[in-house]
Amino acid sequence: MNLRTLTQGALRLLHASNWPHLLLLAALPAAAWALRGWPHEQTLALVGLAALAWLMLAERLWPLSPDWQARRPELARDAAFLGLNAVVDSLSAFLLTALVLRWAPGQADSPGALATLPAVVALPLAIAIGELGPFALHRWAHRREGLWRFHALHHQPAKLNAANAVLAHPLNAAWNQAARLLPWLLLGFSAEVMLWAALFMQVQGLAVHANLRGSLGPLNCLIGSAELHRWHHSVVEAEAHNYGTAIPLWDQLFGSFVYRPGRAPARLGLFASTAPQTWLPACCRG
Ligand SMILES: [Zn+2]
Repeated sequence: MNLRTLTQGALRLLHASNWPHLLLLAALPAAAWALRGWPHEQTLALVGLAALAWLMLAERLWPLSPDWQARRPELARDAAFLGLNAVVDSLSAFLLTALVLRWAPGQADSPGALATLPAVVALPLAIAIGELGPFALHRWAHRREGLWRFHALHHQPAKLNAANAVLAHPLNAAWNQAARLLPWLLLGFSAEVMLWAALFMQVQGLAVHANLRGSLGPLNCLIGSAELHRWHHSVVEAEAHNYGTAIPLWDQLFGSFVYRPGRAPARLGLFASTAPQTWLPACCRG
């Protein structure tokens, strides 16, 4: 095999892959290292905004569907929800930490039960545990009218892009934050492991909504992707599975994993069986 064949093969592989998502994940350790010593909340905010900016740029260069590009009123809507839910996330984290310290004051002055685990074990464990609560609540929200009324907002747009990943009812954002953070605090993961797991999950939450073409190939069985998550936003309720975001582990274990390489749902948005929602004015539904 000569150099030209190798180069052509590599270019074909690159063309078929969702390289902006892969590049973002590859850059994550470097970003976290560069921001070491910063307060964790600021690291999360900066990395989240940088990831969003990168994905929005990549969507201009490498879109799956030109029709899914965010229009100006939708961007204004998404910016408002980004700010609102950032406040909700911070407040929820503050309240949960205060509650855990009140119930288990030993957490404040002694290392947690899992704080001494090597990072190579603790990080995947924290990600898997951090996904379980939001996964279970997400599945529940699709089955219970009371929760669906809040979650439906996230399904309202008939398109997917990185900006509308943040479109979620504040109560939905709060229950996700609580379901992720509470087990971490109670199990006593180290602050660094919680930060790394939160960074990965935050970046994944944006990337799986991105309007990017290409595939992650076999990695779809290990981490969440836009290919997988598009099925979750299908208007056909029977195929709208894949409730996990960062990783597909719990979908695989609980039988809701949908992976159809090379295929995508015909239409995105609210299920046909769902009564019209009036959360947003028509101009912002997208
Ligand atoms: Zn959903």
